[in-house]
Amino acid sequence: MVLFDNHNHSQFSFDGKRTSVEKSARQAIASGLGGLAFTDHCDFFVPEMKAAQENLVSEVFDVAPQQAEIDRVQTVLAGEGRALKILKGIEVGMHEDCHEQIRKTLKDNRFDQIIASVHYLDGIDPFYGGYYEGKTWREAYGHYLETIWKEMRWLEDFDIMGHFDYVVRYAPYPETCLRYRDFCDLLDEMLRYLIHNGKALEINTKSYQPYHGREVTLDKDILCRYREMGGEIISLGSDSHDADRVGHNFVQAAEMLKSLGFRWTAHYESRKLVQLPL
Ligand SMILES: [Zn+2]
Repeated sequence: MVLFDNHNHSQFSFDGKRTSVEKSARQAIASGLGGLAFTDHCDFFVPEMKAAQENLVSEVFDVAPQQAEIDRVQTVLAGEGRALKILKGIEVGMHEDCHEQIRKTLKDNRFDQIIASVHYLDGIDPFYGGYYEGKTWREAYGHYLETIWKEMRWLEDFDIMGHFDYVVRYAPYPETCLRYRDFCDLLDEMLRYLIHNGKALEINTKSYQPYHGREVTLDKDILCRYREMGGEIISLGSDSHDADRVGHNFVQAAEMLKSLGFRWTAHYESRKLVQLPL
């Protein structure tokens, strides 16, 4: 079974200074992965509070140096007889105020795969908490899903829907799982869109761990429903910002997928779908 980690951050991400393309690539080889993608952050909108607290100017990376570094590392590894497929990716932070800049970035560059995500909404970063104030868990999770749904229909030009349940990671509620049964109509629409457009549903293994003592879990009913509707394209992503998180919990995720009847994992090369047997 060959697995690809399709969601990794490198030194080119604003929050990726703890690792590098080379370190994470070497870790991927050590972990027995077949390949990995660097999908550095590209968020044109950054909430004021976060920018001030972290002294941030931008959460956008320079594509050309990142891709040149990927080429360099790929050549070095091949020279050592340890060839590894390294994909050139981007994680686009979708936001209604930045449509023009996003389009321009995607038009001006070539990527293997594009992850579409939402990190900020209502001008707020859920990580810093304010997002949840005055909202019930149902409102907070529902509004996040609706925002991805609205933005991904606008974007269209992407391959993987990133961490759809990101909003649960930092939430203050006892509900630590975004469940199919609570948002079935909306999730059905989103899954149908992915299926009809040949896009992947991401299992983001960073989400499923304890946050502030709360263990966030993935609702398998969402995967079952995807399967039932004909969905087969699943992307595994560790969302690593440290080399030792590359491929984190992938064997467990792959076993779970097999047990639910999935036969493949997916990644994209030059924007073309590649499926590998589980
Ligand atoms: Zn993300």
